[in-house]
Amino acid sequence: MEITNLQDAVYSNLKTYFGYDSFRAQQKDIVETVLNNNDCLVIMPTGGGKSICFQLPALLFPGVTLVISPLIALMKDQVDGLNANGIKASFFNSSQGAEEQEAIIEQVVNKQLKLLYVAPESLPALQNILKETYISCVAIDEAHCISSWGHDFRPSYQQLGFLKATLPKTPFIALTATADKATRDDILKQLQIEHARQFISSFDRENISLEVRPADNRVSQIVKFIRKRPNQSGIVYCLSRKATEQLASKLANNGIKAKAYHAGLNFDERSKVQEEFIFDKTQIVCATVAFGMGIDKSNVRWVVHYNMPKNIEGYYQEIGRAGRDGLKSHAVLFRSYADVIQLRNFASGTSNEEVQVAKIERMKQFAEATSCRRKILLSYFGELLAENCGNCDVCKNPPQFFDGTIIAQKALSAIYRLKETEAIGMVIDVLRGSHNAAVLEKGYTQLKTFGIGKDIAWKDWQHFIIQLINQGFCEIAFHKNNALHLTEFSKKVLFEGAKVSLTKPVTVAEVKPVERERKVAKPKGGSGLFERLRQLRYKIALEENIPAYLVFSDATLKEIERERPMSEDDFLRISGVGQRKLEVYGDEFIAEILDFMGSKPKKPKKTDTHMVTYELYKQGLSIEEISVKRKLKSPTIYSHIAKLYKDGKAINIYDFVTKSEVAAVKKAYKDLGAPDALKSYFDYFNEQMDYFKIRLALSVIEKG
Ligand code: ADP
Ligand code: ZN
Repeated sequence: MEITNLQDAVYSNLKTYFGYDSFRAQQKDIVETVLNNNDCLVIMPTGGGKSICFQLPALLFPGVTLVISPLIALMKDQVDGLNANGIKASFFNSSQGAEEQEAIIEQVVNKQLKLLYVAPESLPALQNILKETYISCVAIDEAHCISSWGHDFRPSYQQLGFLKATLPKTPFIALTATADKATRDDILKQLQIEHARQFISSFDRENISLEVRPADNRVSQIVKFIRKRPNQSGIVYCLSRKATEQLASKLANNGIKAKAYHAGLNFDERSKVQEEFIFDKTQIVCATVAFGMGIDKSNVRWVVHYNMPKNIEGYYQEIGRAGRDGLKSHAVLFRSYADVIQLRNFASGTSNEEVQVAKIERMKQFAEATSCRRKILLSYFGELLAENCGNCDVCKNPPQFFDGTIIAQKALSAIYRLKETEAIGMVIDVLRGSHNAAVLEKGYTQLKTFGIGKDIAWKDWQHFIIQLINQGFCEIAFHKNNALHLTEFSKKVLFEGAKVSLTKPVTVAEVKPVERERKVAKPKGGSGLFERLRQLRYKIALEENIPAYLVFSDATLKEIERERPMSEDDFLRISGVGQRKLEVYGDEFIAEILDFMGSKPKKPKKTDTHMVTYELYKQGLSIEEISVKRKLKSPTIYSHIAKLYKDGKAINIYDFVTKSEVAAVKKAYKDLGAPDALKSYFDYFNEQMDYFKIRLALSVIEKG
């Protein structure tokens, strides 16, 4: 295709390398701004699509785009993702040896790299190439880290201030998902790009449904929730380390595999849990808030807050880890008074206690809201939603109000008779006429209000009293053992006939499913094709040693399921399928679909990918050379070699795998009962034998 102008180039690269036909809001403007050599600041929520804003221009610039990124752990994933799309990218950080670093610098000098990810502290080592002849663009990811106003300040980011002076004509693009006005201004100032154009997107994550539930029987609620979502990735956030472990084991008792993650684990244990989660080997993690930073996994389908978070910022960041791929995802928060009290205790005596307490209060208000939750959430971040969202529990099950004046009078007079000395639990016990030890001991059976609320269940009383607190008719004295106190408003209800309206309690069973969940669990027509595609994706991911979502996102997999492409042309039409993914994965996915549809795969096409490899092999190219030439990873080339050998082509298989390795795999083959999954062999050898060797050895064994 002839490229007539920049626009065409932009769109053709978008499809060829990323597999997308269109941009999301703002992306196109941002890409053009960068390509016109202008600086910009991009504020977009997690999952909004920030990466393309600098990755696409990078393809069109002559030199390399330097990507500053704070987390070494994340760099590898991002580079793997780019490579999977056929884009030349690498990273440069302290985890590499001098030789490896030299090689990368040479690639930059030879203009062989499009993107280079660097940790700020490694910049000095790149001094020699920090020149405009080599560097075409600088992207600063997680740019809020430069500002001490931000929530995640990193001193190493401050060295970035000098970069603009070194590269004055190079366009800078700073990106972040969290930045209030003060942080924004600070980012621009510190990076010395005050005139940068600003692109600020809505913070709304429409695809995440919001739900708050009362915290009764949390574990069994969570078990039910997970059972409705087999094979989905999710995170349960807990307040304490102990809680993460207890919950993981309770889930295990219910037959649900989950791992615990918290800062008390050692580095290796933590990395293992994180990696297994990213690779879909562990579907569920019970974690403290330490988990999630540095996780780019796009197919997290749900986030549950077992405990109340301590502020709305944290809550929003944590639920934001769900649904980065834009597909429907769920956030469930358990509302608990005990948690609020515990959070207040944590805050008590700290240097900024007042601020913390105010934030807990806002969190509590959100959890107890009787109006659209998304509106409340966004307004907290200064964004106004014109309409109710329709995708939160309040919108879906609007609360029903009734005249609760008598209920209120009973509760308030109980508080009064108890001389404002008791917490909510005792107030309810007295209202319900309980004869428990504490009640008897304190002589409360003699009170006038004792037993006047027998007809209302304990939980419902709790529901009503919390509403009274929220409406200001009484309050909790946190510093006096959480005793309930009366307020100005109480008198109006008790003595002046003021009316109180309350909402009916909703039991969890009554709540209509927040999503048409069946659909998620059982794809259209309950075909089972999605599951087969997912398994195939998992198998490929293992072989390539990259996370499954980097092979294809859930969104792409769903589209493949829906469209059932059976030719290369059709496959390329799927959003998320670019040229490289078509070449490498196309055949296998098409074969899976054809097999599913009951027909046999068509005869190999003339462009059969392993035959292309064979031609190059016959020309005497090494695996590395073929891999470079074909822009495919070497494991993929090895898989071609294995197939070619099995098909009887002239391959010197023992150039790649030794006889003793073949013998070892043969033994495993017998011991294990000839499983298909390479993973079984991989585990058998304690991960000490490369996948490609296993595959080659199997081709020898199977050929006989
Ligand atoms: P962020 O960095 O803002 O959190 P990403 O750049 O990781 O978000 O993008 C989130 C997801 O959206 C990725 O799966 C990405 O491939 C997808 N995406 C980005 N831009 C588009 C687009 N124009 N069309 C379809 N999907 C897109
Ligand atoms: Zn709503």
